Amino acid sequence: MIVRWGPAGDGGAVDKRGACLGCTWEGPTRRSPNDAVEDAHDHAWPSWRSLLAVRELRTSSYDPEAVRRWRLQVASAYPPGWLESGGPIVVLRRNPDDRMHRAGKAPGGGYEIAAAPDPREESSGEAMQGTLPGL
Ligand SMILES: [Zn+2]
Repeated sequence: MIVRWGPAGDGGAVDKRGACLGCTWEGPTRRSPNDAVEDAHDHAWPSWRSLLAVRELRTSSYDPEAVRRWRLQVASAYPPGWLESGGPIVVLRRNPDDRMHRAGKAPGGGYEIAAAPDPREESSGEAMQGTLPGL
């Protein structure tokens, strides 16, 4: 799965489209790279929107044991084989303004998708997508 970038049809900003590396599918033209990424995930990982959101890995102080524990907790919250096959993870970021999805940041190399915050719970940092307790 990739996101293609190309000139916008109206000559304005650059357009983005999700595309599949396993077939000829290409998504609709989008202005937001996140929308193109989500289109591609809807195609390649259709159940991704039902995944639990996990807290992002805290990387400010590198602690191999903390990284190991985080990976185990994420793996236990996702379907068997999901991460190993390159599936995405959904993360609740500490900075709610950091909404960019990131390629290659999931433990198995898939996308790290920023969970959409619940506007009703914005101040508490809760996500609309279910959240794994304790992470
Ligand atoms: Zn495909």
